[in-house]
Amino acid sequence: MSSIKICATCGTHYPPQRPFDICPICDDDRQYLPPGGQIWTTPEALAGSHSVKSHRLHDYIYELEIAPSFAIGQRAFFILSGEGNILWDCIPLLDDPIKAFIREHGGLRAIAFSHPHYYSNMNDWADAFGCPVYIHRSDEHWIFNKGPHVELWDGEEKQLWEGMRLINLGGHFPGSSILHVPSLSPEGTVFCGDTMVISPSNKHIAIQYSYPNRMPLPGHEVERISARLENIPFDTLYSFYKHLTITKDVRMILKSSMERYGVSFSDGCR
Ligand SMILES: [Zn+2]
Ligand SMILES: [Zn+2]
Repeated sequence: MSSIKICATCGTHYPPQRPFDICPICDDDRQYLPPGGQIWTTPEALAGSHSVKSHRLHDYIYELEIAPSFAIGQRAFFILSGEGNILWDCIPLLDDPIKAFIREHGGLRAIAFSHPHYYSNMNDWADAFGCPVYIHRSDEHWIFNKGPHVELWDGEEKQLWEGMRLINLGGHFPGSSILHVPSLSPEGTVFCGDTMVISPSNKHIAIQYSYPNRMPLPGHEVERISARLENIPFDTLYSFYKHLTITKDVRMILKSSMERYGVSFSDGCR
């Protein structure tokens, strides 16, 4: 029986040496505590009632999620690449079938994160696959269980392999980042966590400080992020939740979304 505690609202795993009464991630103004207050669970309880499902979204992309839905219902992406697979973000459960599935597909060369709402049980995944975990240094103080595989990166970009790169855009968190994969679609594919969030209509893209608490970013921050996005080529966007994916007209949608913030956006990437 492990003595790890899991916050049932966000899925973050806390080791016994960090015995919080209230989850600091949920206590932050970007998140929330449930109406009845903090709920904790354990890895054993979670493994007994939930499992991990994978769905193929593309020849080289699998979406991973916990069923039934747990915590904030986040999804992770297992992205296949000839020079090594990558896990983009994490879900708070790693069970034996998904471990076997990932191994059958060549394992993981790295895990990379958009931001702290996904850190969950990252050490379990990194230990299982013996791979580094890339996290932007600006969010280091949100890592409550820093395992030996965590590698902090600095600056605006981190080059990976096959032209893939991590890009720090900030906004939601100072370290909020996206993964750009040029080979998955003609103009490139972006995995954004909730650095940007696609609305349920799939016709709007929001950039906010907090999504559940509907807290905006200052206008100059939206303008800054929008200007960065103008120079990143992509035609496909995968966001936080299941079905929040845009594969058509993404730059037109981004342009109309930025205009709602009063920010101009060139829909042709330079
Ligand atoms: Zn929490
Ligand atoms: Zn978030």
